[in-house]
Amino acid sequence: MKAQSNSTTGTVYLVGAGPGDPGLMTVRGRQLLEQADCVVYDALSSAALLAWTKPDCDKIYVGKRSGHHAMPQASINALLVECAQKYPCTVRLKGGDPYVFGRGGEEAADLAAAGVPFQVVPGISSAIAGPAYAGIPVTHRSHCTQFTVFTGHEDAAKPQSTLDIPGIAAAHGTKIMLMGMSRLRQTMEALIAAGQDSSTPAAAVQWAATPRQRCITATVGTLADAVEQAGLSSPAVVVIGDVVSEAPRLDWYSKLPLAGKRIVVTRTREQASALSSRLAELGADVMELPTIRITDPTDRRDFAQAVVDCPHYDWLIFSSPNGVKRFFRAFFAVYEDIRELGGARIAAVGPGTAAELKKVGLMVDVMPKKAVAEELIAEFDRKGEEFGGVANVTMLWVHSEKGRDVIYRELMKRQAIVDECIAYNTVPETEDPGGTKNRLREEGADIITFTSSSTVRNFMALQIPIPEGCRIVSIGPVTTSTLKEYGLTPDAEAETHDIPSLVQAVLQLSGQP
Ligand code: SAH
Repeated sequence: MKAQSNSTTGTVYLVGAGPGDPGLMTVRGRQLLEQADCVVYDALSSAALLAWTKPDCDKIYVGKRSGHHAMPQASINALLVECAQKYPCTVRLKGGDPYVFGRGGEEAADLAAAGVPFQVVPGISSAIAGPAYAGIPVTHRSHCTQFTVFTGHEDAAKPQSTLDIPGIAAAHGTKIMLMGMSRLRQTMEALIAAGQDSSTPAAAVQWAATPRQRCITATVGTLADAVEQAGLSSPAVVVIGDVVSEAPRLDWYSKLPLAGKRIVVTRTREQASALSSRLAELGADVMELPTIRITDPTDRRDFAQAVVDCPHYDWLIFSSPNGVKRFFRAFFAVYEDIRELGGARIAAVGPGTAAELKKVGLMVDVMPKKAVAEELIAEFDRKGEEFGGVANVTMLWVHSEKGRDVIYRELMKRQAIVDECIAYNTVPETEDPGGTKNRLREEGADIITFTSSSTVRNFMALQIPIPEGCRIVSIGPVTTSTLKEYGLTPDAEAETHDIPSLVQAVLQLSGQP
């Protein structure tokens, strides 16, 4: 938390979080989340968005908790004014768009009255995104020229209903109802009584734009029964109109290859995103449960010295993408120019590590197809002669504190002169902001992915039983053998030790080509 150092008032940003899919948040919204000193959020803003905040950002939940009411609106308004006195940048994160039935107008009014500077960042409303994710375009040239958005649940404090049921029934085009699930039957009946054609197609889309999305299509006359039968409840968007007939043809989200699959990602938080976003793109409900965290090596001085001395070696050998990242972060803190590296040849343990090296403009001279230390040694045996052999050659081996020592031992055996450069350490991750541990215990999962031996060990240390029927995917043979140490046999193993291959194995296991 960065508290205000003087009496100037901070700015409060009313930011639309979009309907659920983190990818549907605006670029401006994300920038503000990344720089926020405090975030005030409620139940409809996805936990994944909070992961974008700085580590010291204060996060204040004002939504409903099981058995508890949400914070009263007047208290939220007052809290925002207080936050402005305390933090330079407060983000008030609101599901969908802040001004579409989000009471954002009231929050802004109180901020204005208190003289607090505020800005509004509109968001994608569930009123539009919900139907779109269910294959329903809210307007369509063949069906309508207008759409109406209304709430099915008015402010309980209002003395009488101001909902214009006859007006809505008589309106042309698509009608979209938010907050309408608890009184769905009454509203549909009232609309029909007011002249709405009961055979008009209608749909309810629950948890739209999230992997839990479910959609029911029926007619105005039958929707309440269909929803009850399917067990659909809030939050849902109800759509009434001929556009609903497009859903079977235009549905795309529920047809994604991993739609509805709950997949656990155990990588470190900083590494998880590539795997998580790929799985989410394929429709999976990704549950991030980082089990390890990358930290500095215990001996930072030794590491720094090894980096300073690296130009003197004939070979640099990298055992992991993390090693490459940490090594070059330190390298560029000392040297400005990549040419300071000298003429060293480069070896990588596998394609993932080589890809990280490519980011700093380095191509590899030796790399096995499978990312395993033994394979790297075999590759040196096969190709080493091309480079004059390894005997009496100086090598700097960049690796993690807890890795295996195969590379060191085998190269020394072949008379190479190997120095070690321990670039990082892995420690158990103790934070779980998304509450994945509980979700995993309570809801289970379809697949758990393991991307290294340490993710296996640290997952096991959490003592969460592998849920019934949950299958295991391993990134490669070393991870697989660690799983076997714990009596677990993976149901699939990536063909090459990298993320695309791991995703492919997940797809195959899920019955996709
Ligand atoms: N400001 C929000 C609406 C807040 S009112 C927006 O622009 O989307 C809350 C209502 O929004 C819910 O009762 C539900 O009708 C709808 N809603 C929000 N997110 C939703 C989602 N992911 N799926 C379905 N309905 C959603």
